[in-house]
Amino acid sequence: MCDKPAGSKLNGLLKQKCPKCRRGKVFTHPFYNLAHYSDMPKNCVVCGHQFEIEPGYFYSAMYIGYMMTSAMCIIMGAIVYFLLNDPDTWVYITAIISTLVLVSPLTLRYSRMVAMYFITNVKFDEKWK
Ligand SMILES: [Zn+2]
Repeated sequence: MCDKPAGSKLNGLLKQKCPKCRRGKVFTHPFYNLAHYSDMPKNCVVCGHQFEIEPGYFYSAMYIGYMMTSAMCIIMGAIVYFLLNDPDTWVYITAIISTLVLVSPLTLRYSRMVAMYFITNVKFDEKWK
């Protein structure tokens, strides 16, 4: 729960740590716990930073998630095209949909993390103890 701060901004984002102290976990359960993968405490358990600054704050994360899934569709389409030598359409659809379903917990989490780290102007408090 409380360990040394995740060094850089990118490292904090990838490790899903609080944007203010980079110590506290943003999500309470691992991403593979499908019943609770999106559960977040209201405040950081280490520094008390409020994650959802205002009601509906994470709506902005939906747009980021949309961009992430669009990019994944294009990348998966290119992978299928080059690895399987332009197969039938159902192969594209199956590959893209199964990929999106498999990574949807991570998409939700990282879209929220990007919103917290890059859209909100939360300053990292390096000396927070
Ligand atoms: Zn914190």
